[in-house]
Amino acid sequence: MKSAPSDCHDCSLADSRTQIVYPDVIKNTDHPITIMVIGEAPGAMEDKVGKPFVGRSGQLLRQQLREVPGTIIITNTVKCRPPKNRDPRKAEKQACYKYLQQELVYYNPDLVILVGRHASQTFLHKTVLANFTLNSGTLYKGKFIPIIHPASLLYNPKNKDVWEQGWAKIHAIIQEKLAVP
Ligand code: URA
Repeated sequence: MKSAPSDCHDCSLADSRTQIVYPDVIKNTDHPITIMVIGEAPGAMEDKVGKPFVGRSGQLLRQQLREVPGTIIITNTVKCRPPKNRDPRKAEKQACYKYLQQELVYYNPDLVILVGRHASQTFLHKTVLANFTLNSGTLYKGKFIPIIHPASLLYNPKNKDVWEQGWAKIHAIIQEKLAVP
């Protein structure tokens, strides 16, 4: 699904991107559950390849997603790479929010995994952000689950435990969801 038009110039990220990175849809099993995974922004590899989460941190994420049943949609808070991988700015996130909303309406996911603080900020109260590590893997509003960003494991291997504990909780939430018809 192509949310933003391919010539989108709604923010200045259009000036430096190679291409817009649209959602990637993975059908793991025939189960009707749909899970959306929202990251921060494309990095260098994503900008080059045109798919979200295909770089080093993406491999860590996709490894976890292999265990997830149903259909998985991987997308980002902003669809274009910020120069030199800087954080996306508030105005850029605001400009791209309507496209994220279109994706949410179109795919209508049963669960939304928010990867990192930028995606989490968009949907969750700031008290969740204040204790982000502790709240990783917790279900909010019946649909949203924040998790630390896999890039944080690459620069601090101590975060591996938080990452794995968060995913253990996510897998348990998914199993519970599957048990309820
Ligand atoms: N990090 C993200 O948040 N998104 C990507 O697509 C790649 C890395």
